[in-house]
Amino acid sequence: MSDRRHESLSCSPVLIIGSGVAGAACAIRLRSHGVAVDLVEKATFPRTKVCGCCIGEAGLNAFSQLGIRDEVLEHGMTTRRWCASLAGRRIELSIPLGVAISREVLDPLMMQAAVRSGADVSMNCTATIKASSSDYVSVQLDQNDATIMKNYRCVVVASGLRSGNCSGLLPWTELPHGPFGISMMASSVDVDPGVIYMACNQDGYVGLVKLADGRVDVAAALQSRQSSVAGGDPVTRVQRILAASQFASLSLTEFSPAMTTPPLRRSRRAGHGRVLAIGDAAGYVEPFTGEGMTWGMQGAIAAADLIASTVGDWGHVGDDWEQKLAVLLRRRKRTCRVVTTALRSPAACRIAAGTLQLFPRLATPLLRSMNKA
Ligand SMILES: Cc1cc2nc3c(=O)[nH]c(=O)nc-3n(C[C@H](O)[C@H](O)[C@H](O)COP(=O)(O)OP(=O)(O)OC[C@H]3O[C@@H](n4cnc5c(N)ncnc54)[C@H](O)[C@@H]3O)c2cc1C
Repeated sequence: MSDRRHESLSCSPVLIIGSGVAGAACAIRLRSHGVAVDLVEKATFPRTKVCGCCIGEAGLNAFSQLGIRDEVLEHGMTTRRWCASLAGRRIELSIPLGVAISREVLDPLMMQAAVRSGADVSMNCTATIKASSSDYVSVQLDQNDATIMKNYRCVVVASGLRSGNCSGLLPWTELPHGPFGISMMASSVDVDPGVIYMACNQDGYVGLVKLADGRVDVAAALQSRQSSVAGGDPVTRVQRILAASQFASLSLTEFSPAMTTPPLRRSRRAGHGRVLAIGDAAGYVEPFTGEGMTWGMQGAIAAADLIASTVGDWGHVGDDWEQKLAVLLRRRKRTCRVVTTALRSPAACRIAAGTLQLFPRLATPLLRSMNKA
């Protein structure tokens, strides 16, 4: 740091750390309640991110609540079908209208909406919680070789799966041998537009979807190195899952360098005192059902509503949030965990694949319960 300054300012209202889907959604919603917001993002946009880029019905409803549904649909590719390769069978289902949109497009679009809503947005700015008292939270902001300290009445942590432990306030618990995520953009895979492809086997699952710019997003969750019987580097494992599936013709040859995630199964306390965590920063299950962005936005909207309804009394808003989020997501996270555990059992996969092939409508209540608006 060449220019290291220290400012202790009088308290500002709300800081949101991270302008992914959850952070931007929270900022837009807080502004709609008239609450002043600082939104800081450490990256420079556009940036890529490990993600399957698919958003379903409930996600579109969240975009409606934020006033950006039409804009998102205009920049994305609408999805109408889900096509899976499971236990040697090909299963095709119609799904309610959804959208596939790259994170290079979606995140700047949402950040711009936050700017329009009146949030004070700083890009290329890294925030670190340094201390928390009963009156305020002290945060260090690093931007363009300058460091400042600022006190906030309330801090929303929306910094994703790689979030730090927030000065010990919200420590992570990592579940042993959780799977990890990997994604890449392919240019030479011939998939139908509007269809979400999913190939599964005991080593994990791979999703493919065509984006509006013609590239194909390839995202996978693979068993941890300790649990995998397959071995090999992650890209080879993705290629093997595809080659063994009903989509063997979708071979991956030309693609961008792969990005990976830390172990996905992590949980944490979602709030404490004046600090709340939302989106992936509040804990994670698995991406099989493509719910992460939707849960992130729904959580962000609920957190903003809670913050706005308790203005001036934020001393325990984090503790209230911890309880509220558990109620909001508990059932859907459990369903998602059951589905992904079943995917690793060959017998359960065979039964599920056979049943779904004969009675595809049986999938509807399951999809609805995980994708509840
Ligand atoms: C393999 C895989 C496939 C997936 N597929 C889908 C899918 O198809 N559909 C779906 O809905 N979800 C999917 N997900 C989940 C989805 O990607 C996440 O749930 C979603 O991105 C979470 O959004 P977020 O805003 O919480 O975090 P992020 O999108 O990670 O955003 C966090 C932001 O915070 C910033 N940040 C971090 N630290 C700081 C700091 N200290 N200061 C300032 N800024 C900071 C980061 O730069 C980042 O921009 C998938 C995930 C994986 C791993």
